[in-house]
Amino acid sequence: MKNKRVTVIGLGNSGLNAALLLKDVGAIAGVTEKGDNERLRKNAAILEGKGIAYELGRHTKDFIKDSDLVIVSPGVEDSSPAVRWADELNLPIISEMELGYRFCKGKIIAVTGTNGKSTVTTLIGKILEDGNKDTVVCGNIGNSLCGEIGRINKDTWVVMEVSSFQLERVSDFKPAIAVILNITDDHMDRYDKFDRYFNEKLRVFKNQDERDVLILNRDAKELDGLQVRAKSGVLYYSRLSRANGSFLRGERIVCAAGPKEEEICAVEDIKLRGLHNIENVIVSVLAGTLAGVKPVSMKETIRNFTGLNHRFQTVSIIDGVEYIDDSKGTTVDSTLRALESCSRPVILIAGGKDKNSDYSIVRDIVKNRVKCLVLIGEAKNRIRGILGGVVETREAATMQEAVELSRAMAKADDLVLLSPMCSSFDMFKDYKERGDMFKRAVLGLRMK
Ligand code: ADP
Repeated sequence: MKNKRVTVIGLGNSGLNAALLLKDVGAIAGVTEKGDNERLRKNAAILEGKGIAYELGRHTKDFIKDSDLVIVSPGVEDSSPAVRWADELNLPIISEMELGYRFCKGKIIAVTGTNGKSTVTTLIGKILEDGNKDTVVCGNIGNSLCGEIGRINKDTWVVMEVSSFQLERVSDFKPAIAVILNITDDHMDRYDKFDRYFNEKLRVFKNQDERDVLILNRDAKELDGLQVRAKSGVLYYSRLSRANGSFLRGERIVCAAGPKEEEICAVEDIKLRGLHNIENVIVSVLAGTLAGVKPVSMKETIRNFTGLNHRFQTVSIIDGVEYIDDSKGTTVDSTLRALESCSRPVILIAGGKDKNSDYSIVRDIVKNRVKCLVLIGEAKNRIRGILGGVVETREAATMQEAVELSRAMAKADDLVLLSPMCSSFDMFKDYKERGDMFKRAVLGLRMK
C-alpha cells in the first residue's frame, strides 16, 4: 500500500477506520462522502487531524479519478455515482472488509446468514473469551475489522458478523471457519433477485481450502447441496437430527467435532427463548469446540447468556398478557421463527418499511397462531393484501396506538408480539428506537 492512492467511499465507522488503517500502512488515503451531518463532520475532523483528504456532501469524479484502489463501505450501494465512476474508470474496487482482511493476522470465524448473525457472533465471542482465548468480535455488529487490526495478532480469534453487503466486492477474504446459518428472503429492495442475494452469501467460503472449515445448518433446506461447492471440510449442525458437527440429542446439546463426542449442556441451561435460539447455541458450541474451548466453560457461558436486546425478549406480563419485543425481526423468516416459538394465541404487531418481501410465507402460521394482526407503517397495505384475508386485521398510526389496540384485544394468557417483518426507517431511527417505543408503551400500560 505504500504511497498508493486509495479512495474510500463512505465516512461512517467502517470508512473512517479504513482510512485510518490506510494512513497507518503508508497509503495516501482520501475519503468521499455524499452525506453531511454532525456525525460525519466528527469523523471528518478525525481525518483532518491525521492529514487525510476528504470531501463531504458530494462525490466528485476528480476526487476519485487518480486512485490506484477504491474501498467501498458496506452501506454504499453499487448505484452510487462514486462506485459507478470507479467502475467506468476501471479502478480496482474492494470492500472495507477485504481491506481489513489483507492486514488481519488472526484466525477468522465469519458468521453469515439472513437471521441470527448478531446473536451467534456475540455468543461465539463470549464462549471464546470465557474460554480464555484472545478474542475480537467485529464486523456488521458495529465495529469494523479495519478498526480492530491493531489489536489482532496471529493467535487472536476474530469473530466476525458478515452481512451480504460486506461480502460484495471481496476477493481474497478467507476465514478459517465460515458459518452459514440460513439464507431466506431479505433485502429484495436492494437485490433484484433472490439468487443474487443467495450467491453473495456464498462468497464467505469461496476462498476456503482444505485447512479451513465450513459450518452449515443441516435443518436449513436452502443450504442443501452446498457442500459440493466447498473445498474445505464441512461440518453440519442440527436441532432435528444427528449431525457430524453438533446436534440435539433429547434435551442435550452434543458436539461431535472434538476429540470425542461430548455433551455440552442441556436445553434448560439456555436462557434465550425460541427454537431458533437452541439452534444458535448448537452452532456456537461447535465453533467453540473447534477453537479448543472446554465443554464446562461453554456450559457456564451459555447459562449466563441472556441474549441481545430486541430479539424476542419479554418486556412485561400485564394482566396475564405477555408482551414480547422482537423489533429486530425485520425479515419475514424471523417473524415465522418467532411465531413458531409462541405456544399461545398471538396479537402480532407488524409492518414498517417494506423490503419487497414475500409475506405469504407466514400465511399458514398467522392463520393458526395469530388472533389479530395490528399493522403499522408503510407496508400496511401490502401486508393487509396478503394476510388480511386469513386473520382479523387492524391498523395503528403510532406504536403507542398499536400497543393500546393490542391490549384491548388481548385476554389473559395471550401474547402480544412486536415482530415487524420490515425495517423501521419509515417511522423510527432504527429497530432499537422502535423496540424502545414498544417497551415504553407497554410499561405505560402498567400505570393505567
Ligand atoms: P441478524 O444479525 O442476522 O439480524 P439477530 O441475532 O440480530 O440476527 O436476530 C434478528 C432476528 O432474527 C430476531 O428477530 C431474532 O429473534 C431472529 N433470529 C435469531 N436467530 C435466528 C435463527 N437462527 N433463525 C431465524 N431467526 C433468528
